[in-house]
Amino acid sequence: MKRLRMLYSGMSNCIFCKIIAGEIPSKKIYEDDEIFAFHDINPAAPVHFLVIPKKHIENVMELEPEDTMLAGRLLHKAQELACEQGLQEKGGRFVINAKSHGGQTVDHLHLHVLGGRALGWPPG
Ligand code: 5GP
Ligand code: ZN
Repeated sequence: MKRLRMLYSGMSNCIFCKIIAGEIPSKKIYEDDEIFAFHDINPAAPVHFLVIPKKHIENVMELEPEDTMLAGRLLHKAQELACEQGLQEKGGRFVINAKSHGGQTVDHLHLHVLGGRALGWPPG
């Protein structure tokens, strides 16, 4: 039974799989069969949420051709939710950090959406 639950709730040691499974609480914004979105616990801007695939893909470097539709949906859903969160007029930033040089700290693919203030560029 425990093993079965593990299979359904994704990678057992991944915090974002646990958030998807409801084992770690989050401020959920959106959920469907493939995608989950929630507010970042440590917001770097007035609006800061994460859009993630339910499928455990470690990072953008691990995307396979079969993930093309999912990746496109992820980006489009991020845009829709950004509009709902009030970013339509002034925009914001859509960011994917990857591996060590990208500053990735959670090894489950996630798209950051930030906005609500002017954001600096380039990153440090
Ligand atoms: P990364 O640095 O990997 O691109 O981004 C990971 C993001 O996940 C960080 O912005 C961090 O604040 C957020 N985060 C880490 N743990 C949790 C958590 O348990 N809940 C939520 N809502 N966000 C988290
Ligand atoms: Zn995961």
